[in-house]
Amino acid sequence: MAVTETASDFTYSKMRGIVVFLTAFIKQRKIGLNDFIQKLVSNPQICQHPDVCVFLQIDQNQPDEAEVYSNSNRSNLGSEQFDLSSTPNSFFFNIYSVKPSDFDYLRIIGKGSFGKVLLAKHKETEKYFAVKVLQKKMILKKKEQKHIMAERSVLLKNMKHPFLVRLHYSFQTTDKLYFVLDYVNGGELFYHLQREHVFLEPRARFYAAEIASALGYLHSLHIVYRDLKPENILLDSQGHIVLTDFGLCKEGVEPNGTTSTFCGTPEYLAPEVLQKQAYDRTVDWWCLGSVLYEMLYGLPPFYSRNTAEMYNNILHKPLQLKPNISNSAHTFLEGLLQKDRVQRLGAKNDFLELKFHSFFLPINWDDLLAKKISPPFVPTVSGPTDLQHFDPEFTQQPVPTSVASSPEDFLLTASAREAAEAFLGFSYVPPVDENYL
Ligand code: AMP
Repeated sequence: MAVTETASDFTYSKMRGIVVFLTAFIKQRKIGLNDFIQKLVSNPQICQHPDVCVFLQIDQNQPDEAEVYSNSNRSNLGSEQFDLSSTPNSFFFNIYSVKPSDFDYLRIIGKGSFGKVLLAKHKETEKYFAVKVLQKKMILKKKEQKHIMAERSVLLKNMKHPFLVRLHYSFQTTDKLYFVLDYVNGGELFYHLQREHVFLEPRARFYAAEIASALGYLHSLHIVYRDLKPENILLDSQGHIVLTDFGLCKEGVEPNGTTSTFCGTPEYLAPEVLQKQAYDRTVDWWCLGSVLYEMLYGLPPFYSRNTAEMYNNILHKPLQLKPNISNSAHTFLEGLLQKDRVQRLGAKNDFLELKFHSFFLPINWDDLLAKKISPPFVPTVSGPTDLQHFDPEFTQQPVPTSVASSPEDFLLTASAREAAEAFLGFSYVPPVDENYL
């Protein structure tokens, strides 16, 4: 009897393993095929080739793209994106579901090392989004394609958390990658901090709690955020935190050869990252400690104008806390800014350790997650096109026309083929019940 049970358990678990493997495999192939088809149909010449027509089952009697697009029920978009068993018509329709020309690009609102973030309006629904447009060539040149694909995959997992930016779509053209994200227009948290110099403890606690809950959620998915930094912490129009930028290494932050080649704003780097030692999720709790410290004192911990001295301070200088904060804030900061990550608050039970620290005693975590706690500050924004919280250095620049299209002569080049392979599976359209366009 016992032998039979063991044998059937073994068979069952083996079967399950095979099913899981096959499901993942088929999903990946479908995603790859979707990208391939998108590339085919984005070039009119290739599209007219008889073999391609047969492959796509394009029928002369079928309505053209514009017709299909405008006549269709938008709420069905995405539901059949990967459903290759659907009729050729719906399949043909779905591959057109999102493309650069669906948006009006209104302003540049930010810049990263591989491209720009633009405020864009979806033409049909008139909804506003932040569209991050990345140049494939630049990514490939810096060999960062793995990070970009990681960012995409993290963004997909973020969809369920209130304080992480939401990805609505990702798609690609021959030379560019597009992330269609929530448009968050309350400004960077540190834009407000710079104006007010410091935040009172309850306000700092509110932001720290929302950030901590987002980081804890990422950790539960085995994701380490690693480089929490001022420009990645935004406020939405109601005053809630939104974390952006997942896995995209920005110039000057990633170590490049040796530790001394760090540049830019390394204030929040944990000692183990500076020393290029192994790091784990506790690195995020160090960063949270740095953010909280800056909110309460107006400057990052261990700050020095001299970068080399600041590195030295982060690695060796004992934390000094001036007495104008509460006891609980004091012990909380001491716990988070512990140089030895094994001793750091969160090293044992991660977010749970922070959650139950006395500093967060006034926080009702259920209410926080449900956004039932009124933000202590509501940014003044008159509407989606009010860009007062964005840096004029970006918003005053002209929007390049190239964001809405791709050069056709790029398609058949060797770099285009390399780019196509490197970003296979990048495109994403959510299932019908999660489609927000
Ligand atoms: P990133 O490359 O993601 O760091 O973005 C560069 C800058 O663009 C950020 O520092 C923000 O100021 C801005 N930005 C990024 N994502 C968004 C968004 N979803 N909504 C509004 N602004 C954004």
